[in-house]
Order: sequence, then structure tokens, then C-alpha cells
Amino acid sequence: MQLLTLGASGGLESQQGTIAFYLPSHTLIDAGTGVSRLSDTALSSLSNVLLTHAHLDHIASLPLLIDTQFETLVEQERALSVYALPEVLETLKTHIFNGQIWPDFTRLPSAKAPVLRFVPITLWQPFTLPGDAHVALQVTPFPVSHGVPTCGYCISDGTTQMAISGDTGLSDTTIASLNRLGALDRLVIECAFSNHLDALADIAHHLTPQRLATLLDGLHTLPETLSITHLKPKQRDTIIMELRQELPSTLHWELPL
Ligand SMILES: [Zn+2]
Ligand SMILES: [Zn+2]
Repeated sequence: MQLLTLGASGGLESQQGTIAFYLPSHTLIDAGTGVSRLSDTALSSLSNVLLTHAHLDHIASLPLLIDTQFETLVEQERALSVYALPEVLETLKTHIFNGQIWPDFTRLPSAKAPVLRFVPITLWQPFTLPGDAHVALQVTPFPVSHGVPTCGYCISDGTTQMAISGDTGLSDTTIASLNRLGALDRLVIECAFSNHLDALADIAHHLTPQRLATLLDGLHTLPETLSITHLKPKQRDTIIMELRQELPSTLHWELPL
């Protein structure tokens, strides 16, 4: 199972966009500015967007994506399905697709056959999405702590199991969720701030290298690969240096972009 990183930045930088992952050929997980790396062909094949939460760095490309694909979706008589927690969908309806910031595409071109469909998810309730080569992917949303309603997604194709934590602080909830998921081939997790911004990380419910190391310490099983995202661009070098110091030497970790 492929999980491609389109954007892993925690801010505005020239090298890469903000958080977005691509599960070929129909699904995005989060829709930050990294989505602009997708080819036109790949964009046209998208059917699903799974959102971890409603923060701007994770949804920035969604309004433009639906606008860009409007004609294609109308021609094909289908909708782009956005999966998220009910509170996240409510936030999108109230603050983005409200007819002021952006049109309400859940009623366009008509309320009967719109191009955008909101699908509320329930924590720990698995659902199935199509993967490549007719493989069905099982997706399980799990809770993490980020100060606003946020979930991670565990994705399994029956052989490989991967999890994307979404933004998270150091919390018992997140540790308990990851332990409940069990052995993971890959865990994608954030590390937004360097250690010297510990107080800010606490308030903003993000991780530092130290907090990430403590979180990993609480896991019964470490993932085969840990992919670390969401580094604040100006602290990138410091965060990487601190990760080298803090993380267990036996752990295989990487920065996916
Ligand atoms: Zn966030
Ligand atoms: Zn974020």
C-alpha cells in the first residue's frame, strides 16, 4: 500500500506545501497546500478527502480543489466526498462553504446532485474505501488531542497497516489510541516545535522532540517506520538536531519530504 506525502510543512516555505497525503488513486488525507503537487490526471481521479481537523494548514486547498474539479465532477455525475468528524464538517459549513468565503458546493450545481458531499465519521468505526488494483482499504478514525476536534486515520489493506496521527499534543488519549491500534508498519506523526518552545507546544497541543520521545515511550510497540511531519520551517534545523538526540537510536525515523 502506497501513502505518498504531498506536503509535510508546518508553515509557508518554498520547498514544500502544508499537510496533505495521497492514497492512490482516489483519496487524499488532509488537503493542505501540498495538494498542488498532484498532477491534473491524479486530481481528476480523486473521489475522497479524509480530514483530520479543520485547521487551515490542513484544508487550505479544499475550496480550490472542488472549484477546479467542478466541471469534471458535473460531467461525470459524481461528487467529491469529504470525510471528517461531525464538528469539523460543521466548522467547514459555517466558516468556509458559507456563500461568503466560498460557495456552498454541497448545493451546487443543485442541492439534489451536488459536487461536494460531507460524510460524518465516528471514532473507532471503520469504513471501506477503494484503493488501487481493486484492493479495499479499511479506514479507522481514532482520537488524538489537539485542542479542537481532531482524529487520526489508521489504514489497512489487509497486509500493511499505517496510521496518520493528525496534529497532536502529548496526551494519554493519543498514547491510548496508538496502543489500541497495535503494531504499525508506519506511523506518521507531527513534531511542530523545537524543545525551547515547550510552553507554546503545550498551549497549542503540538509536539516537540522531547514530547514526541515521551509519547513513544508510552507505546507498547514502536512502529517499523516513523514519518515526522509539520516542522515549523524556521525551526527545522534545530528540530532535526533535537530529534537525533531525543529519539531511540533503534527507531527508524524519516522526514517524508
Ligand atoms: Zn492543527
Ligand atoms: Zn497543522
